[in-house]
Amino acid sequence: MSRIAYVNGQYVRHADAAVHVEDRGYQFADGVYEVCEVWQNKIVDMPRHLDRLGRSLGELRIDWPMSRAAVEFVLRQVVTRNRVRNGLVYIQVTRGVSKRDHFFPPEDVAPSIVVTARSSSPEAAKAQADQGIAVVSYPENRWPRVDIKTVALLPNVLAKQNAKEHGGKEAWYIDGDGNVTEGGSTNAWIVTKDGVLVTRPAESGILRGITRAAVLELIDREGLSFEERPFSLEEAFEAKEAFVTAATSVVMPVTRVDGRIIGNGHPGSVATRLRELFHTATDLQTV
Ligand code: PLP
Repeated sequence: MSRIAYVNGQYVRHADAAVHVEDRGYQFADGVYEVCEVWQNKIVDMPRHLDRLGRSLGELRIDWPMSRAAVEFVLRQVVTRNRVRNGLVYIQVTRGVSKRDHFFPPEDVAPSIVVTARSSSPEAAKAQADQGIAVVSYPENRWPRVDIKTVALLPNVLAKQNAKEHGGKEAWYIDGDGNVTEGGSTNAWIVTKDGVLVTRPAESGILRGITRAAVLELIDREGLSFEERPFSLEEAFEAKEAFVTAATSVVMPVTRVDGRIIGNGHPGSVATRLRELFHTATDLQTV
């Protein structure tokens, strides 16, 4: 079976899927995206992801490429046509195709939309979560509007590549005050020695993660103690546990930060429990 992508109104073979060379996503990174987890044949938290897509589009004054209901339909179609039971579905919307010019294109230029999906192995993800990941700190190098989920990810690419070259799977951005903002593609959390979960407020400096929101609901439901505040790299070194959250990895324990062992060096009980419970706090829509 060949993979299928949706590109501007058509389902095409993934291998042949292409956008125009003057698509503003390609020329200027002038676009936004979302990634939803597909879990057991269900799209996880699609309404929340589409709410955030709408917000990102609004902040950049890009129109929806089609109605929200039509976008939902295409997401389901692409998951189905690719027979993804577990994996992810990706949607990207750009300001469309127009002669290269920094100014916004004429009103009649339609936004471009691409949707792809791919399978991933739940067994491999579990093996990773059982082991935990290492993260490597990196100076914050992004623009202040990281609340918008834009495709302009070059700073994240550089931070994550640096992490990889230093034995890590994720980068943790450090702001000018020495605090951890978030990961290159995840939100960052610690559990203090006193068992308090800590993550940074989403008002500025981070993307308001959809996975983060579900975990916040779980914390509330489970009656766990929680503080929404910045935490420093030093505090992370001393933490009992650390973990990251994202649609691509759900709740992923962190066992090393900059080569320093966190807690006892194994995935912590809080992170592990949140990972187990995670999907009970999400909206699950069968494809
Ligand atoms: N922070 C950044 C910079 C991200 O790129 C992502 C996901 O791509 C997240 C946080 C986590 O967001 P979500 O939980 O919505 O996947």
